[in-house]
Amino acid sequence: MACANPPHQERRTHMQRSRLGAIALSSAALLGAALASPALAATDSEIPTFSEFHASTFKDADQQYIVNGDEPVSDTGQLREFYDKLVGPETQTDGLIVNTVGGADDKWSTSQVGNLTYCVSSKFGTRKADIVNAMNGGAGLWEAASSKINFVYVPSQDANCTTRNNSVLFSVEPVQTSQYIARAFFPSSPKRSRNVLVDDSIWTSGSWTPANILGHELGHTLGFRHEHTRPESGTCFEDNNWRPLTPYDSSSIMHYPQCNGTSSNLSMTATDRQGAATLYGS
Ligand SMILES: [Zn+2]
Repeated sequence: MACANPPHQERRTHMQRSRLGAIALSSAALLGAALASPALAATDSEIPTFSEFHASTFKDADQQYIVNGDEPVSDTGQLREFYDKLVGPETQTDGLIVNTVGGADDKWSTSQVGNLTYCVSSKFGTRKADIVNAMNGGAGLWEAASSKINFVYVPSQDANCTTRNNSVLFSVEPVQTSQYIARAFFPSSPKRSRNVLVDDSIWTSGSWTPANILGHELGHTLGFRHEHTRPESGTCFEDNNWRPLTPYDSSSIMHYPQCNGTSSNLSMTATDRQGAATLYGS
């Protein structure tokens, strides 16, 4: 989730479902007002060069590039791959959906998904207990959907809770940014990218509860993509590197409400649970 009120920023509301729109999600500063007009969003001449795209892509505190609002890519080579996919031909016009890498599902093994260990950084200070609770809440949403999914909090690692801690699969750490509320990673992400970063705006995100926001982020960690990249949303297109698990669900926890979504509070739906069970087992 990015930004506040509601998370993930007003600029997305103007995005069209087009190759260009997908780029603009990550380079609004470059394309700016031109993209606010749908009529201008149809010409390839407005697609930035990779150099322009690179220069305009936000880099967070971990020096990782942030694309699609809250998804990190760890180096310039990966950013190039992301860019090439964005500007490449659309190959699929078509619900919960799973990320794909090279055409294969981006998911954990059955044994790993049953032991998704994480720490919560002591750097959260007085908010740490609240983060622990919100993580429990978010994780519980997915755990209720599939008996195979099990997030495991390892408090003994909280004092050294970074991506370099190999005693846990991932870390939950504070960040200070205006770019997003929280961001996560995918199963295919390298260890150095495997953290959930959380900005203080998570406490002031209105109807989006901290548990639901972290539930959304944990959805990414399980491999689930933004539901609004599906053509049915009519906006906020990202790319075609995903496979549908369910029919389109405009109320999905993975669907930004401001992208023609129909949920006001980012809660999990029955379809989300069905999708998780389809991917990992019931
Ligand atoms: Zn997201």
